[in-house]
Amino acid sequence: DASNVTFKRVMLKISGEALMGDQGFGLHPPTVERIAHEVQSVHSLGVEICMVIGGGNIFRGLQGSAQGMERTTADYMGMLATVMNALAMQSSLESLGIHTRVISAITMNEVAEPYIRRRAVRHLEKKRVCIFAAGTGNPYFTTDTAAALRANEMACEAIFMGKNGVDGVYDKDPKKFADAKRYDTVSYDDVLQKRLAVMDASAIALTRDNNLPIIVFSLDEPGGFKGILAGEGTYTRVQG
Ligand code: UDP
Repeated sequence: DASNVTFKRVMLKISGEALMGDQGFGLHPPTVERIAHEVQSVHSLGVEICMVIGGGNIFRGLQGSAQGMERTTADYMGMLATVMNALAMQSSLESLGIHTRVISAITMNEVAEPYIRRRAVRHLEKKRVCIFAAGTGNPYFTTDTAAALRANEMACEAIFMGKNGVDGVYDKDPKKFADAKRYDTVSYDDVLQKRLAVMDASAIALTRDNNLPIIVFSLDEPGGFKGILAGEGTYTRVQG
């Protein structure tokens, strides 16, 4: 029930790959639906939800430029990929009866709303899930940075980084080292200095400047997202 929920407004960031299931590429509709259910269970607590979804399941700018494509063009393609993922998530959430808005950093009025901060805040107040698409709208950035930026602008109380195959931040890669240890809490500075795999450095810097906590958790456990909001489960909290 909503009485013991710790946050009233949160940002959920997932990578594009979180939507591809066991496939090597693209969208896996049952996986999208599974994540939509996770979002629904938190939404039903009355929590206001922002989402940023990556695009790596479809296109990454760096990969494109490694194949000879001009970097900024490749980055725009990556941003467009995030719009497709946002629309897939919107469709899945709306089929569960949740009102949503896709809000794009690149104007494409036929497909998504343009980003207008005050308007987005109003959507949240009306309990619409806001899916922020097209990253920051700028090449050379990532969707992690977009998540940090929008979370600050929307005055979210935390960023939830939903991961696959890992339930927090470890001192070394838990898939390679059996003795890897998970941090319960870790500081922004340690994340930057030790280059821990949380978000890229510019995204971490943005959260640190505003003291916005980052909760790194596993998206693999059904009910995991809701559980953490209720104060349960394992995760790492990055804070000042
Ligand atoms: N991108 C960008 N600016 C942004 C966000 C994303 O140029 O503000 C591009 C970049 O090329 C990136 C791609 O979009 O590789 C997909 O985003 P990202 O790699 O962050 O997705 P994820 O790894 O989370 O799936």
